[in-house]
Amino acid sequence: MMFRKKSQSADTKMESKKNKYSSTMNDYASVFSESLDESEPIPIENDLEQELIPIEEPDFPEPSSSKSVKLIQEIQNLDDKTIKPFIDYNEGKLFYPILSKIGETQDNVAYLDGLVSDGILEKNVFEKLIVCPLHPDTFSSSVRLYCPKCHSMDVEKMNLFEHKKCGYITESSNFDFTSNGNLQCPSCKKLITNFEKEIRVPAMWYQCNDCTEKFDNAVIKLHCRKHDHDFDTNSGQFVTTYSYKLKNSEVSMNSDTSQIKDDLLKLLEGFNFATKQSVSIKGKSGNVHEIPIYAKRSNTNETLAIFIKNQTDGIDQTEMNSVLVPKLDVDPTHTMFLTTSGINDGVENLAKHYGINLISNSDASQIISQVESFVSKWHSKNSKKEKPSSLTSLMSDFKLKKGGKN
Ligand SMILES: [Zn+2]
Ligand SMILES: [Zn+2]
Ligand SMILES: [Zn+2]
Repeated sequence: MMFRKKSQSADTKMESKKNKYSSTMNDYASVFSESLDESEPIPIENDLEQELIPIEEPDFPEPSSSKSVKLIQEIQNLDDKTIKPFIDYNEGKLFYPILSKIGETQDNVAYLDGLVSDGILEKNVFEKLIVCPLHPDTFSSSVRLYCPKCHSMDVEKMNLFEHKKCGYITESSNFDFTSNGNLQCPSCKKLITNFEKEIRVPAMWYQCNDCTEKFDNAVIKLHCRKHDHDFDTNSGQFVTTYSYKLKNSEVSMNSDTSQIKDDLLKLLEGFNFATKQSVSIKGKSGNVHEIPIYAKRSNTNETLAIFIKNQTDGIDQTEMNSVLVPKLDVDPTHTMFLTTSGINDGVENLAKHYGINLISNSDASQIISQVESFVSKWHSKNSKKEKPSSLTSLMSDFKLKKGGKN
């Protein structure tokens, strides 16, 4: 089964990546393991349809795909839909706390990178850290200034202050305009209300407290804090940290889908759906998703989102995920995924699991007629009853029966 193979190779990837990191990285993960949530099934809110579909797929690859979906939902709750790294400079550790919410270790960068290759996340440079060339695993370095003459660290920064209004000039060691208590010019007694505007710094230098040398350029070294030694700024290495952002769902506008789209539009309009092509819909998270075909029944407010994608070597999990993201966020009444390509192993189960009607047929006219039979069933269900939304009431009936209460 292709899906299994894939998740296995992802595991292997994680392992090798872990080994590449220092052992301290693993120690760190164990510190956090206490607070890790148990990996739990994904609650699918407001999606009653899910409950109508019995899930009887014993070999459904639960861990990787439902974790991804949960992570997507967690990211959608973030302000800028971006996972940012958390850096413990003292310990030299990099981690992503959000991962603990889906039962992953917080330093499982390989898991996030896997979602990048799956087309769910997009990876961006967050920061470039300068690290010690001898101990690149520790991120904590600080800047140190030394006296160029005696190499003492006891260096003071000195400068002149000038009160622009009265022309009073003083050394910072005599009177420090930047300190909070000194809001009054000692010469003209006027209040300093805006430091930036009223005070000029005409000169700046360093002074060594040990040898009293005054100098313009201190010797600058970086200090490896954990192993307590200096290194030259130029010898430092860079560590790049990354943030991960939810990829915007993009729509393939290739010509091989345009005929299907035209036919679908005609079909849906024939059923009196208000139908739009390539429309931008705002999801629950506030993210905007482009949906190839979005139809709305005016009498019930029920919606249908149709995605069309073709892939020469078959539809795989990546394509399905790119539909899953807008599906979960926009939450239409029905979601269809149409393709003239083949379907790779595991994708059908994934679609079923999340209530996506997957139609694959090399003959486009067959696809249209399958959509037609789906829509006409749905349409007739709605027309039989007087109630505005028979499907919804059907679902709540189901819920009542299930709950055993009235
Ligand atoms: Zn070092
Ligand atoms: Zn000195
Ligand atoms: Zn003054």
